[in-house]
Amino acid sequence: MTSPRKIAAPGRKPLVIGNWKMHGDVAFIESLLAGLRKGWRQRALTQAVDVGVCPPSPYIGLAAARLAGSALSWGAQNISAHERGAYTGEVAGSMLADLACTWSLIGHSERRALFGETDAQVAAKVEQALASGVTPVICVGETLQERESGQTEDVLGRQIDAVCANLQDASGHYVLAYEPVWAIGTGLTASPAQAQAAHRFVRNRLLAGGVFSASDARILYGGSVKPGNAAELFSQPDVDGGLIGGASLVADDFLAICRAAAGVA
Ligand code: PEP
Repeated sequence: MTSPRKIAAPGRKPLVIGNWKMHGDVAFIESLLAGLRKGWRQRALTQAVDVGVCPPSPYIGLAAARLAGSALSWGAQNISAHERGAYTGEVAGSMLADLACTWSLIGHSERRALFGETDAQVAAKVEQALASGVTPVICVGETLQERESGQTEDVLGRQIDAVCANLQDASGHYVLAYEPVWAIGTGLTASPAQAQAAHRFVRNRLLAGGVFSASDARILYGGSVKPGNAAELFSQPDVDGGLIGGASLVADDFLAICRAAAGVA
């Protein structure tokens, strides 16, 4: 088994992760990876921002082969809550580690809403990721109806509380992603002030839950981030980068968002 490429002592260095969801085929992914590698020439960028991509699971090995030796990392969109065994269709943390995955998204709102993923399952997946040396990227966020009925903090609080026990000893090797469900793939974006308020809440809730490394934890914003709105969102004090869906499928757009996170025009 190869070791996952851990980002050493991450602190709050900006981080941008692309979530390719269930898009692409070999030809498309070869071309996207080539575009990313070609566009990623600036040493200054590598020093200023960490960048990862999460392809659909059948293509993780392809991404690993094409990105090996580059400054770009890769990961998965999901991970099994189980260690190994008779779980048809599941992918274990150890398998992701074997493919040198740095990241695994966990608890994306599409998994929670479409596949019934519960807070308890999210916590079990976080445990498996940490045990495998794969950094969990834990997604939280409220629906429009929850926001409009004043429940945003209740929902975020419940989702965060579910993982605090797992993160208390994780020594900073975890990432949170605040993704308001109403902003995902809709073209609607949280205002910078809304994003900042939610991120601050997430960080404080982790601290209140005994996750003392949370002051240095990276909290990404996700939800219709584009080259045109990235810099303002990322300039908020508790926003440490982005989790990018649609725009991560276009190499130039994704690279522009990475430059915004790095503070490079
Ligand atoms: C996502 O699915 O995590 C996401 C943020 O999507 P989009 O950027 O397309 O809104």
